Amino acid sequence: MKLAVVGTGYVGLVAGTCFSETGNDVVCVDIDKNKVEMLQQGKIPIYEPGLEEMVRRNADEQRLIFTTDLDSAVQKSSIIFIAVGTPQGPNGHANLDYVRDTAKGIAKAMDSSKVIVTKSTVPVGTADRIRQWVSEETSLPFAVVSNPEFMKEGAAVEDFMKPDRVVLGGDDAEALDAVKEVYEPFVRTGNPILVMDSRSAEMSKYAANAMLATKISFINEMSRLCEYTGADINEVRRAIGLDRRIGPHFIFPGVGYGGSCFPKDIRAIIGMGGDEEEMLLMKAVERVNELQKRILVQKVSRRFGENLSAKTFAVWGLAFKPRTDDMRDAPAIVVIDALLRMGARIQAFDPEATDEAKKIFSDRIDYAARSYDALDGASALLVLTEWNEFRRPDFDRIKELLKEPVIFDGRNIYDPLDLKKLGFEYFSIGRKNG
Ligand code: NAD
Repeated sequence: MKLAVVGTGYVGLVAGTCFSETGNDVVCVDIDKNKVEMLQQGKIPIYEPGLEEMVRRNADEQRLIFTTDLDSAVQKSSIIFIAVGTPQGPNGHANLDYVRDTAKGIAKAMDSSKVIVTKSTVPVGTADRIRQWVSEETSLPFAVVSNPEFMKEGAAVEDFMKPDRVVLGGDDAEALDAVKEVYEPFVRTGNPILVMDSRSAEMSKYAANAMLATKISFINEMSRLCEYTGADINEVRRAIGLDRRIGPHFIFPGVGYGGSCFPKDIRAIIGMGGDEEEMLLMKAVERVNELQKRILVQKVSRRFGENLSAKTFAVWGLAFKPRTDDMRDAPAIVVIDALLRMGARIQAFDPEATDEAKKIFSDRIDYAARSYDALDGASALLVLTEWNEFRRPDFDRIKELLKEPVIFDGRNIYDPLDLKKLGFEYFSIGRKNG
């Protein structure tokens, strides 16, 4: 099939590449000239495991091309996917400017009937608005299908190639069948393609993120209560995770959720409900998360005092989670900003997110080229992202390099008793002895 994907960010680039991997001819469009030039040269503007190789392979086969020219991409394709950003707008509502511009741009370029598919996360009712925007610009026939994306950054290629489910929303049977056909190669093991009305499809994405963010805030709140009462969240997590109604996934305490989706999507849900249908639980989920991002800073100030002006801290991990370079709304931003305000110097290391971090902190912090370089002369190490390479470090070397053997573990990746034995002062989230 001939497909176009508009927006070559985390979602659009992965979707476009995976669509070409199954033999479709895909044109990926972006308004960002630099991004498109990089992609045309076979360079990937983001870090996503497995993606670079797949882009190269399909670009070499000329099944995957990159352009800034929306008109020709639309004219060449029968199905056009919208995967542009929907960032937080005023009052928490999703900003639909990019979606509207894209929909209108597609309409203006249309020379025949098209299927327009929304992959961006959009508020309930957006499919109707897209229909309106497109019909304002063209009298040619078209259909709109809602197709929310559930991939996880860090495992996006894997998730896209083997989705738990594909959700399609709309009422045009022919268009739905055409999009179904695109997805069939990805669900050969029997995972379902669910077809529903577009409002339910749009809502499914928000509901999924709402549930996941709720799980994180839930376990974080429990971890605070564990610390307060002398229980250990790790034991509690294992005990409740074995209950099949609860399950072991996504109940790991930490320094709060971040990234390009949960924070803005929770705010968008709160905005959607407005004053009429107040989203009480979502407001609490957000409040708990804001509090959680400050937990580690409180532990630092309890140990080192409020004035950190003569002190340097090493930070391992800047991205909002491992296996990505995405720094959008990362808890590390809140933690580091707070420590800087208290006068601290920061030496940070992240395996992939340093370039993104430089856009946020510029020269306000130092960036280490290697993990152990960040430790040199620091008063303590803070672990903010659970990259695999931080899980089994050389603790003797850490001890040698740090001024004082103190570790604040925001992701509970070390064992409190082991670290005590090794002579560390160890602080983690919601655990006994740490
Ligand atoms: P992103 O910011 O990485 O990429 C968006 C891209 O769209 C950018 O490259 C931008 O230049 C481009 N763009 C903006 N306006 C354009 C236009 N008019 N024409 C062409 N290109 C345009 O965003 P993302 O993380 O890929 O997210 C895209 C959407 O998917 C959002 O709605 C997001 O909520 C949703 N989503 C994201 C994820 C994720 O893990 N990142 C997962 C599921 C859903």
